[in-house]
Amino acid sequence: VITGLSGSGKSSLAFDTIYAEGQRRYIETFSAYARQFLGGLERPDVDKIDGLSPVIAIEQKTTSKSPRSTVGTITEIYDFLRLFYARAGEAYSYNSGEKMVSYSDEQIKELIFENFNGKRINILAPVIRSRKGHYRELFEQISKQGFVKVRVDGEIRDLEFGMKVDRYKTHDIEIVIDRMLIENTEDNDKRLTESIKTAMYHGEDIMMVIEQESQEVRFFSRNLMCPSTGISYPNPEPNNFSFNSPKGACEHCNGLGLVSEVNLNKIIPNPKLSIKNGGFAPLGEQKNSWIFKQLEIIGEKFGFKLTDPIEKISPEAIDMILNGGNEKFSVVSKVMGITKEYKIDFEGISNFIKNQHDESDSATIKRWAKEFMDEVDCPVCEGTRLRKEALYFKINEKNIGELSAMDIDELSLWFQELEPHLSEKQKAIATEIVKEIRARLSFLVDVGLNYLSLNRSSKSLSGGEAQRIRLATQIGSQLVGVLYILDEPSIGLHQRDNERLIRSLEQLRDIGNSVIV
Ligand SMILES: [Zn+2]
Repeated sequence: VITGLSGSGKSSLAFDTIYAEGQRRYIETFSAYARQFLGGLERPDVDKIDGLSPVIAIEQKTTSKSPRSTVGTITEIYDFLRLFYARAGEAYSYNSGEKMVSYSDEQIKELIFENFNGKRINILAPVIRSRKGHYRELFEQISKQGFVKVRVDGEIRDLEFGMKVDRYKTHDIEIVIDRMLIENTEDNDKRLTESIKTAMYHGEDIMMVIEQESQEVRFFSRNLMCPSTGISYPNPEPNNFSFNSPKGACEHCNGLGLVSEVNLNKIIPNPKLSIKNGGFAPLGEQKNSWIFKQLEIIGEKFGFKLTDPIEKISPEAIDMILNGGNEKFSVVSKVMGITKEYKIDFEGISNFIKNQHDESDSATIKRWAKEFMDEVDCPVCEGTRLRKEALYFKINEKNIGELSAMDIDELSLWFQELEPHLSEKQKAIATEIVKEIRARLSFLVDVGLNYLSLNRSSKSLSGGEAQRIRLATQIGSQLVGVLYILDEPSIGLHQRDNERLIRSLEQLRDIGNSVIV
């Protein structure tokens, strides 16, 4: 431990001398070619340093300013959670709330033998699901592939030359792959296997079975599927739970959890002002410009003048000014008795600001637009950053978003009480993952960060918090033979947590490292 008065050179001994020398020696192990990209580090002003091991500095800098970085991602706990949900999560349908199921071809065959024994069935491959179109080319193509029947909107029909359906209506179309009587014979078995394979091929891993007599429909899928409504999810991978991957990120906010919205109070800060005097803040005072001409025309339509206070203008007119309009109208002039034609073709102030913010190439214009906008929780994912599907995978009734919103104490408790709620299969898959997560959570508790949640954005962390997270991550990495240098790690820490922090530093030392504070 280096102690001393402020300004006595503690940090400069730790960082500018010991750390710099360690860093220099590390870089020196690289080839001359690689070194030219790293830049030479100067030898610190010392006579001799002996027995220096590889150095890792844990400073008070906030690790990342990226809005995509959270406590969960920098501690890697979220990566383990994603793996946990991809392997052990149970999918539920967002349509019906039912548990989703997926089958292998072999399982489907057995289920058909079990449920439809002695009955006549149709095996279908769905190709169009509630989409508009006349589908003439599709019918032709199906016919060329050698099929003779299709099911259109629930009705089985023979394929005819030039067949088409109403292009303005939505349709469901399935190819009739096979019609057969289910009997447990060897021939039947072979034929069913073939038909399932063909149906899966044309239906892109989804097929339907319809019992001829009762017309009862059942969906089967190689992917996860809702058995009654037929919606399907991809078989989950860790990326489906990542808000930094297009596979998992909410499409509305691109995984940021926040969207910018135009704030009306910022556009009209003072409704007592008139348009002429700059009542619409983004426009400023009246100028001789196209926009103000358009506003005058809108005034003709709704009967206001640019000198009227904005609070006196009708809500319909304000709506058109903000959200735009496109129409022609005519007014008979009272004085001269002639009819004047007007044309409104106005984008609307709100839309203009939003478009500039989203699409402008200029940073200055983006900044200008931002002045009139607020960041609010994304309405689609409610700030969870994830796609709807990802939130319908659950473990012990919780989805990954709910776990991320818990504080570390709550989350640790949830994991402690988890085991009895897991099935044997889940246990077999998840034991190792759960062990890793628990260990990392306990390191965070040890450094006094039990009040954080995994979804906390890392740019909102203080320097002290960021340093302690890095410390917890280092303890988790289980490196040995390293020299750690920390800069006042207890800064901002509650007095009662000091003991725990010291214990975790000692833990780092005890597994075979050196620690300089
Ligand atoms: Zn969203």
